[in-house]
Amino acid sequence: MPRSGIREVLDLAVSRPGVIRLEIGEPDFPTPAHIVEAAARAAEAGFTKYTVNRGLHSLREAIRAKLAARNGIDAAVEQIVVTTGGGTALMETLLALVEPGEAILIPDPAWPNYAMMAATLHATALRYPLERSADFEPDLDALDALAADPRAKALVVNSPANPTGSVWRPRTVEGVLEIAARHDLYLVSDEVYEEIVFEGEHVSPAALDEDGRVVTVFSASKTYAMTGWRVGYLVAPPPLADLIAKVQEPVVSCATAVAQKALEAALLGPQDCVREMRDAYRRRRDATVRALRAEGLFVTEPRGAFYLFAEAAAAGDETLALARQLVLEHGVAVAPGETFGPRASGLVRLSLAASEDALAEGVGRLARGLEAWTRSVI
Ligand code: PLP
Repeated sequence: MPRSGIREVLDLAVSRPGVIRLEIGEPDFPTPAHIVEAAARAAEAGFTKYTVNRGLHSLREAIRAKLAARNGIDAAVEQIVVTTGGGTALMETLLALVEPGEAILIPDPAWPNYAMMAATLHATALRYPLERSADFEPDLDALDALAADPRAKALVVNSPANPTGSVWRPRTVEGVLEIAARHDLYLVSDEVYEEIVFEGEHVSPAALDEDGRVVTVFSASKTYAMTGWRVGYLVAPPPLADLIAKVQEPVVSCATAVAQKALEAALLGPQDCVREMRDAYRRRRDATVRALRAEGLFVTEPRGAFYLFAEAAAAGDETLALARQLVLEHGVAVAPGETFGPRASGLVRLSLAASEDALAEGVGRLARGLEAWTRSVI
């Protein structure tokens, strides 16, 4: 199994004081106070035990209402499984669906964990291209051709996307769902960045799904700055939801009870915190896009999530080596493009989960580091 290049850079950066940390995708905001307080009250009230595999009924009720109101997904509480974050939801879904030797279609570039999940399952990762010239939306003809592979079982989509910041247009989402239907694939939709959209509109393919092939994954991590609580959820067609809930037993049994109560409070409580964080990410995006343009490193303007690419063409497929050098000699940590797939070679990813000052200084260090790299290569 490949190791995440993001984690390799993180390990190098974490013990070095003064390094500007733009490699990891973790909100720099604290979890909103009302959520922490609700969790503390829940711990005192005895939410310290196992829950049923699928999660607390009261939480699944809150999720059901949210899915209907925010995502246009009309689901019964039995179709919802609460998990230990979006990552576990994805892994358990793929565990339930994919046999060794089958294939999973994943985007290129994509969050590295999809390829790691495929490797863990002894499945083949088939990477479908996202087009830089089309704001990193998929080339639907190329996807259609790959989906015809007889081993293909599941198609993973991610919008708003990590690492590209792309928010797929409704037309594209419909096209992808049609391809899944044509080749009778399950569509696994990773929507953990659903609330971080600056332009465009977030569309859940499950809202358009008429034949029960879509599993949708959500998380508290990014929406409510709750990465360490490890709580998320999925919604699946009824027989599949039962299967995934069954798979959850040998994996983790259930999500942590207090974290479930924290998510319940997050969903039922005021949502201003979500808007405030999104506005902060938007301001940082705008400032960082300006800084990258000024340095000649601009690639695309992300419409969602909290990442953006910077040009590092001189590094080609050596972006991990570049990222190491940037940490050791220039005091800035970025994620190496190659860890996201071949189509991100010659790029590095910056996370907007850092202050505007840190981002400005980080872009300056990146530009100087790239100049030094280019000089050493020539
Ligand atoms: N999906 C994507 C695209 C991500 O970037 C991440 C985290 O970085 C996750 C899923 C998983 O997040 P969590 O397991 O914290 O919910």
